[in-house]
Amino acid sequence: MSGSVESGFAVGERTADISGGDNAEPVYGLVADIERGSLHDGPGIRTAVFMKGCPLDCAWCHNPECISPKPQTLYYPEKCVGCGHCADGCHNGARVVCGKRMTPDELLLVLLEDREYYGDTGGLTLTGGEPLMQPAFARELIRLARRERIGVAVETSLYYYDEELLKSFDLIMFDLKLPDDERHRKYTGVGVTNIKEHILKVARLGVKLLARTPVVPGVNADIETIAEISDFLYSLPAVYKYELLPYHPLGRPKREALGLRPDRFDVPDRKLMEELNRYAFVR
Ligand code: SF4
Ligand code: SF4
Repeated sequence: MSGSVESGFAVGERTADISGGDNAEPVYGLVADIERGSLHDGPGIRTAVFMKGCPLDCAWCHNPECISPKPQTLYYPEKCVGCGHCADGCHNGARVVCGKRMTPDELLLVLLEDREYYGDTGGLTLTGGEPLMQPAFARELIRLARRERIGVAVETSLYYYDEELLKSFDLIMFDLKLPDDERHRKYTGVGVTNIKEHILKVARLGVKLLARTPVVPGVNADIETIAEISDFLYSLPAVYKYELLPYHPLGRPKREALGLRPDRFDVPDRKLMEELNRYAFVR
C-alpha cells in the first residue's frame, strides 16, 4: 500500500503553480502523456491530456507515473537489449521519460489536428494526475480551446477548489473513493473531509458533474460503503450520473517500472459489480 503519507500540499488551496504562470515566465504544462481518440475520458471522442502531479497517492492508481510533479524515468528491464546507448535516448522502450514541458499553443496544435473527430460531444479532457495543480496552463489551454469552439472537460480529485477554473469546464468528472477520513487517508494519503466540502461547493456552480467510484476489493467494494457514497452524491442534483468503475491492474507494470512495490488488489468480478450497482443511484 503506497498511500500512507500526507501529501504535504495544502488542502483546498492552490499549490505553487508548477505550470510557470506565477513567475511571469511563458506558461507551460508538465504533460505525462496525450491520448488521442480516447473513448474513456468523457463523452464522445476526446483528446486526453495527462498532467504530471497529484496530491493524492491512491494505492490502486492506474497512472502512478502522473503522481510526481517532476519528470521521471520508467525502466522496463525485459525490453532492455543492453546496447549501452542510454545517454542518446532509448529506442527500445526500456527507458521511458515521463514528463514533457509543453506550452498551451503546442497542445492546441494537437487539438486542431483531432478536432474533426470530436463531433458534438467530444473535445479536450484534462486529466492526470491532477490538472488543477497546473492552473495557469489549464486556464490558457481552455481559453485557446474555447476560441476554437472545442469543448473542455476535466477529471479531478477535487482536492483543490479553484472556482474560476472549475467554472470554465463543460463537464467535471470527479471521484469519491471512500466516505470517511480514516480509510481515505489510509488508502490515498489524504483525508476526504475537504474533498466532500469541495464537492458540495462545485455542485452549486452550474457545471455538469459526473461522479465515479473506483471499486477496489478490500478497500470499498462493499454495500455499506457504496450506499453511503451514493446517498451523499444523490443529494446533489448537479451530479447527473454516478458510475462504479471496477479496479483494473493497469498501473502495476508502471509501478514496477518506477521502482515502486506493485499493488496486490483483486479485480472485482461481474457478480460483485452487479450487486454493488444496485446500490449506486441512477437518475
Ligand atoms: S538504450 Fe535502452 S535498450 Fe539500450 S541499454 Fe539503455 S535501456 Fe537498455
Ligand atoms: S487521484 Fe487519480 S491520479 Fe491521483 S493518485 Fe489517485 S488515482 Fe492516481
